[in-house]
Amino acid sequence: MTFEEIKALDHQYVLQTYTRNELAIDHGKGAKLYDTEGKEYIDFTAGIGVCSLGYANERWARAIYDQAMKLGHISNLFYAEPYAKLAKRLVEGSGMAGAFFGNSGAEANEGMIKLARKYSYDKYGRGRATVITLKNSFHGRTITTLKATGQDHFHEFFFPFTEGFRYANANDLESIHAAAGDDVCAVMMELIQGEGGVNPLQKDFVQAVAALCAEKDWLLLIDEVQTGIGRTGTLFAYQQFDIQPDVVTFAKGIAGGLPFGGFLANEKCRNVLGPGNHGSTFGGNPMAAAAGQVVLDTLTPDFLAQVRAKGERLKKGIEALRSPYVSGVRGMGLMLGVGVQGMTHKELRDRLMANGLLTLTAGKDTLRLLPPLVISEEEIDQGLAIMARVMQ
Ligand SMILES: *Cc1c(COP(=O)(O)O)cnc(C)c1O
Repeated sequence: MTFEEIKALDHQYVLQTYTRNELAIDHGKGAKLYDTEGKEYIDFTAGIGVCSLGYANERWARAIYDQAMKLGHISNLFYAEPYAKLAKRLVEGSGMAGAFFGNSGAEANEGMIKLARKYSYDKYGRGRATVITLKNSFHGRTITTLKATGQDHFHEFFFPFTEGFRYANANDLESIHAAAGDDVCAVMMELIQGEGGVNPLQKDFVQAVAALCAEKDWLLLIDEVQTGIGRTGTLFAYQQFDIQPDVVTFAKGIAGGLPFGGFLANEKCRNVLGPGNHGSTFGGNPMAAAAGQVVLDTLTPDFLAQVRAKGERLKKGIEALRSPYVSGVRGMGLMLGVGVQGMTHKELRDRLMANGLLTLTAGKDTLRLLPPLVISEEEIDQGLAIMARVMQ
């Protein structure tokens, strides 16, 4: 089908809930994508930080195929090897105690919020259910995670929202103190606010919040749906902030493109959710878990060091453009935000796309870069050359 045919079909039969790029992607290989006309693009999106191993990765595809031919799905009413092995890998790599598996980031965050409320209920009884989240955060699109998201424009239309969220300013400990109270059970935050504009939190702020949580017996809930699973150059970003969360969520990159997500709880929280408290029909799916195993096998210490080095190369390369359209570059590993000035971030994204480079936007004025973690230095340089053409 041609682009115009696909677009017409989409507009006639799909609910129009997305502003799509004027492009239909047909296939990919590594960090390159090809549209329906065969034009090649360097991909700095990886879905939205999902395709950590790039496209058409042989080991990944083989693991999914082999698992599909063995056991494609089985309910959580039975034991099965793939998710148990994956949980072991995640626990060992994170210093946490146990894993729960679902299917998406929002669902993972919902589960994490449920865990925090039950922890507090079990210990203190009712009335201690408020979760402090940060302004400019993003935690998902369910009714509860929309309310957890600290941006007013997400709190429209869908009333009534779930109660029990209060918002504080990022990097402002006083603001956390101001939101405190006897009704609080947890603080929930991203360590780099992704959708909100790729804003890394300050390490001293994060550590101070962790200390406050320990003091008040609030749970420290870290949303690593975007930052987790190698994206920032460590398995989880919190490992670079020298903190240990009570619960941490993951999703986007975990299965390299299959829908998968979940959370890890520490020793203190491992028995909070018991039989009947939480569950998922698809969660822990064997094919997704097999794919996740390949992703985790790939994230060796050497590979993670390369993610950090490649992120540095990309960041330095953008700074070296000395582009009048760039106000600054932020981020960690292969999660970078480029401040855009002199045109809108969407205009810049479209111009880059027309020249063969795919990027994302975030916040009001940020170009967001989340390349596949396997991207080569050569592909990074190709992307930089396109940026130089468009932005100098
Ligand atoms: C993407 C994202 C979510 C939502 O994940 P879905 O899989 O779309 O539900 C939640 N939190 C963060 C930090 C995200 O980046």
